[in-house]
Amino acid sequence: MTADPLAIARDLLRCRSVTPDEGGALGYLEGVLRAAGFAVQRMTFREPGADDVENLYARIGDTTPNLVFAGHTDVVPPGDEKAWTHPPFAGTVAGSQLYGRGAVDMKGGIACAVAAVLDHLAANGGKPQKDGKGSISFLITGDEEGIAVNGTPKLLKWAAEHGEKFDHCILGEPSNQEELGDTIKIGRRGSLNGHLIVTGRQGHVAYPQRADNPIRGLVTLVAALQAEPLDAGSAQFSASHLEFTSLDVGNKTVNLIPGEARARFNIRFNDCHTLESLKSLVEQRAAKAAGDLAAGGQIKFAFKWEPSNAGVFLTQPGPFTELVVNAVKDVTGRKPELSTTGGTSDARFITAFCPVVEFGLVGQTMHATDERVPITDLRALTTIYRKIVDRYFG
Ligand SMILES: [Zn+2]
Repeated sequence: MTADPLAIARDLLRCRSVTPDEGGALGYLEGVLRAAGFAVQRMTFREPGADDVENLYARIGDTTPNLVFAGHTDVVPPGDEKAWTHPPFAGTVAGSQLYGRGAVDMKGGIACAVAAVLDHLAANGGKPQKDGKGSISFLITGDEEGIAVNGTPKLLKWAAEHGEKFDHCILGEPSNQEELGDTIKIGRRGSLNGHLIVTGRQGHVAYPQRADNPIRGLVTLVAALQAEPLDAGSAQFSASHLEFTSLDVGNKTVNLIPGEARARFNIRFNDCHTLESLKSLVEQRAAKAAGDLAAGGQIKFAFKWEPSNAGVFLTQPGPFTELVVNAVKDVTGRKPELSTTGGTSDARFITAFCPVVEFGLVGQTMHATDERVPITDLRALTTIYRKIVDRYFG
């Protein structure tokens, strides 16, 4: 008997698991995995000021290597449900597509991983390897699309405290851009938000000699921070980029020189930097620009950095990425690009525990009305995952 990824995906899509609600999705997975012989643990994480979130860890086998599939069953809200061609939580198959919130991000991906693993186990006497060695795990959170404090970071901490070790991880986020097989993500840029605050001296516009206009200083510093690239990129990453997102004075009066001016910005950064080295680079450049102007006035400025848990990460290309690339190539005929583009993902947390690559469905309809997945993609991704697991335990 072969496991059917379409049936598993439909069952998952019928669970209304909008963050932070479990919606029955983890309960369903628990049932499927237990029936296949997995030891399944469910844990609820709590944090003052945040919603309680349920998570799941399942493992079969008790020796190394432990290959872990990671993912999330929570989904973003559907928006206006009447705008959908098929209801977002019905799991409707229409034509060649399966519709529903989470079809590609990422209940569909989880369904493919579960189906592939069940088939692999069935072919190997119910164990990862015929000799009984090896382990396969599922690390599934219910808090990826929200603020993510009660999700993967705590799940990883829980696993470490319980002696769980991972050797390699596949995160089934929708990594492909246009077609299944075009992109594997092997890293992600970091993300850092900052505020630049320039203070001057408030005064009457008709007597500027008695005031010190902070807008002048802000414009100088904003220009200086955009004048020079942060780096030239690295082997696996494009150049880091600083983008200003807002300039604010909040002055409602026409005859007042304001006392303070602010700018907000975001930096997407590569592996030339750490969060700390990046902050000091930006602060040094601002200090230099402020100093250059100091002869004519004085720019008093300060940076305020928002806390960030989005550091940069990279899984170096090697035997594990090759194994994934070859499986993708064998099934789709495409040679996937090893990419580090796009936003952040939970892989940034997993990378501290084991090498992680992201490969899943095609992301085109993720978070959109009428999110859907071609059934052929569900079958092809299942075959890819199956090849990865077969060869991993080869
Ligand atoms: Zn996702």
